[in-house]
Amino acid sequence: METIKRQLIELKLPGMAKALEVRNEYALSERLSFLDFLSLLLEDELSSRRDNGYRKRLSRAHFPSPKTLEEFDFRFQPQLNKRLIFDCATCEFIRKRENLLFIGPPGVGKTHLATALGMKALEQGYKVLFTTVNEMINSLVASKADNTYHLKMRYYLAPNLLILDELGFKRLNQQTVDEFYEIVSRRYEKGSLIITSNKSFEEWGEVFWDPVLATAIIDRIIHHCRIIVIKGDSYRMQNYKQKRAKTENDSDK
Ligand code: ADP
Ligand code: MG
Repeated sequence: METIKRQLIELKLPGMAKALEVRNEYALSERLSFLDFLSLLLEDELSSRRDNGYRKRLSRAHFPSPKTLEEFDFRFQPQLNKRLIFDCATCEFIRKRENLLFIGPPGVGKTHLATALGMKALEQGYKVLFTTVNEMINSLVASKADNTYHLKMRYYLAPNLLILDELGFKRLNQQTVDEFYEIVSRRYEKGSLIITSNKSFEEWGEVFWDPVLATAIIDRIIHHCRIIVIKGDSYRMQNYKQKRAKTENDSDK
């Protein structure tokens, strides 16, 4: 047993090595054929590789905090099209290399939904990267100084789904809008984007500094895109109000 385990490890089959003893006992007690025994062990190796692959992709996705669709309270945002969100969770938009755009004021759940859809994409085997627009642009600008620009570009172009959070928090300037255009145009029809923004479309012209580039960017983002506008109340604020009311009630007693 120990020799076979060592050989499996040397052959880089750790999933089989881990399951060998249990599967062997099971095979003996159930009088499995050699082929059935081998098939079980191979399934163990495959499933351990799938788990490892998922874990690796999850840590590389850099989600700020894990969020799921199941945790999202759709009753709090009744005008939000739940059917559309669950359609997006099938990841058909990633297969078609389309984009999603969440627009709405702070606290309505844009980052939550973007993350939850990103987690669904991971489960389906896609590579996902989450970043804020600012973080991406700062790292691209900095990479020019230390000659790692091409590497950084590849980092943002490679994932099947790139989630760009918080577009519009800061106005882009001449240099930074160029970087943003580069990413959007090079991913166009090659990989999906989810973008969240607290600015309405009419205000995007201001965000992108140069009106010509702004038009070019908007054109490429919305060509194959589902736009989801969330108009409801801030969940954070609601939570805060509820907690405050409870504290005040408690202290009145
Ligand atoms: P936004 O990105 O629109 O500013 P977030 O997605 O960061 O908002 O949401 C703020 C907080 O409220 C997060 O902790 C998020 O999980 C939670 N939240 C927002 N909307 C809902 C909702 N409808 N159901 C459950 N939690 C929500
Ligand atoms: Mg947010």
